[in-house]
Amino acid sequence: MSSIFSKIIAGEIPCYKVAEDDKHIAFLDINPVAPGHTLVVPKREVSYIFDMDDQELAEFNVFAKRVAKALEKAIPCKRIGMTVIGLEVPHAHIHLIPINVEADMAFNKERPEVDKTLMQAIATSVAKEFV
Ligand code: 5GP
Repeated sequence: MSSIFSKIIAGEIPCYKVAEDDKHIAFLDINPVAPGHTLVVPKREVSYIFDMDDQELAEFNVFAKRVAKALEKAIPCKRIGMTVIGLEVPHAHIHLIPINVEADMAFNKERPEVDKTLMQAIATSVAKEFV
């Protein structure tokens, strides 16, 4: 059975895509903890990030760095925070979150749905900065 992220990668479910290469994709989290909250996902469906082999994990992190650099340019913030949880979706992913204060990284707060037009505008602005 394929994960919800594999369905996104296959184009069966829409997403607000910000970046892609042959092995990875990055798209906005549907329930962002902060504006620009992005998920970086390997196209190969592996449940647990630390089951990735060394080279795959290294390439995944380098791709995440490129996405973080695009986020830095597109979203006013002090830093890009990075975290891995993986308790909800069993398909490895890195959360990249533009932050100004530590509380911006908090997952256990209310995460109101963001207007679709704003989500698309954020994704487009990050995608433009991705190199
Ligand atoms: P985790 O597995 O790291 O605990 O959390 C999974 C994350 O994926 C959550 O932040 C959740 O909002 C996000 N998420 C779950 N389903 C979807 C989806 O269908 N599309 C997108 N863009 N994000 C999702």
